[in-house]
Amino acid sequence: MDKAEHSGKLFIISGPSGAGKGTICQRLVEESKVEISVSMTTRNPRPGEIDGKSYYFTEREDFLTEIEKGGFLEYAEVYGNFYGTPREKVIEKLSNGVDVVLEIDIQGALKVKEAYPNGIFIFILPPSMAELRKRITGRGSETEEAINLRLSQTLKEVSYIDKYDYCVVNGDLEEAVARVKAIVMAEHSRVSQSIYKLIEKYKEEV
Ligand code: 5GP
Repeated sequence: MDKAEHSGKLFIISGPSGAGKGTICQRLVEESKVEISVSMTTRNPRPGEIDGKSYYFTEREDFLTEIEKGGFLEYAEVYGNFYGTPREKVIEKLSNGVDVVLEIDIQGALKVKEAYPNGIFIFILPPSMAELRKRITGRGSETEEAINLRLSQTLKEVSYIDKYDYCVVNGDLEEAVARVKAIVMAEHSRVSQSIYKLIEKYKEEV
């Protein structure tokens, strides 16, 4: 799929919960020409989350049926809940030349890497563990136990950083957004098949 000339690019954004992936992805959608893939999850909606926009919230049984049907590009169990990327929607967008962003956990990212090694893998890091704890606590939606679980999980997650192409530390949100947007632009400036076509056209014009 990535070899197709007019195919969109697949950006995979991972990082610890509370690193600010969600906000960065939202800004990316608003300010760059990319579309985010809405995942399906069995977790309960948090206050303010909208079904079909934040996630497709679903029952465990329906999620398992979707797995059986092969409906996910990847899926993973994260903190006791299932999360999955709807396969067809992503493939349709990419084949229409649309860039797609997947905001998914590391297990999911590794699975995507097997299928789409040409994907662009970006890891978002918090500036410190203290700041990460502050951010997760600030959400007010997690128990102390869940927060501690997420923090210890973070240490495991960062050990996979070498599987990623880029790493952005989100201390200052504006700078982090600018860096991720720069990555998207840089990836579009790679020497590729379409450039060779342009060069062929130059030759005709001389
Ligand atoms: P949260 O419950 O905080 O929204 O998400 C928990 C974790 O699940 C985050 O690391 C998020 O990136 C990840 N996640 C969200 N959607 C998907 C998905 O479709 N697949 C995978 N593998 N992880 C996901």
